[in-house]
Amino acid sequence: MEIFDTHAHFGQDGAETAAVLARAAAAGVTHLVAVGGSEELNAAAIQAQDTRPDAVRLAIGADRDQAILPADEVMSEIRRLHASRRCAAVGEIGLDFHYTPETSSEQCSLFAAQLALADELGLPVVIHTREADDATCGVLDEVPWHGDGLRGVIHCYTGAPAFARQLLDRGFMVSFSGIVTFRSAEEVRASAKYVPDDRLLVETDSPYLAPVPMRGKKNEPAFVVHTVRFLAELRQAREEALASLTFANAVAMFG
Ligand SMILES: [Zn+2]
Repeated sequence: MEIFDTHAHFGQDGAETAAVLARAAAAGVTHLVAVGGSEELNAAAIQAQDTRPDAVRLAIGADRDQAILPADEVMSEIRRLHASRRCAAVGEIGLDFHYTPETSSEQCSLFAAQLALADELGLPVVIHTREADDATCGVLDEVPWHGDGLRGVIHCYTGAPAFARQLLDRGFMVSFSGIVTFRSAEEVRASAKYVPDDRLLVETDSPYLAPVPMRGKKNEPAFVVHTVRFLAELRQAREEALASLTFANAVAMFG
């Protein structure tokens, strides 16, 4: 059984990154996307890819917290990184009005600029959205697409099935993290049952959000096996079947 963790973050410590990647491989997590989002996260994701280039796909981008910085400087750095190596996606990008509602308009501009960059580069996007359902759809619908069109994933999905429907209608895949295993996450489970097989992805969003039964520990890609097992039970599928369909979806998206 091969598993693809579509969203993991790494730290600056190269020895720790190597150990985390070795434990992932031992657990059957043969592929993962190392996701950037800030200067530090982008550098750490690049280091992870250099450590295991066969297993690690790279997403480089500027997340909502970068919206306080001068936009042209942020965008030129993201462009430089994308020109310097082969990336599988632009990300993570998107909106968070839960923690930082005061920068909502700057977040929307930075999000739109990176959607346009993904279009130009022909890459999928990795999107974070929290308490920003309408604004997310608004920005997605405003950006004019020139290439093959919009494609990507809404990562660590925590919304309702109705919002998932809007994202599926726009062509997106939807990725579930360990949150789906949390006791209080009924709405997330409803969404995880709702997303069709050909649009479903799994992720850790490590080092955050360790799934049950690892809650309280520092999360890492190896732990995605618990989320796969949980999702299989929830969707009344065999664990191997759930692993293999999410793996195939991830390869279709990220290569
Ligand atoms: Zn993330």
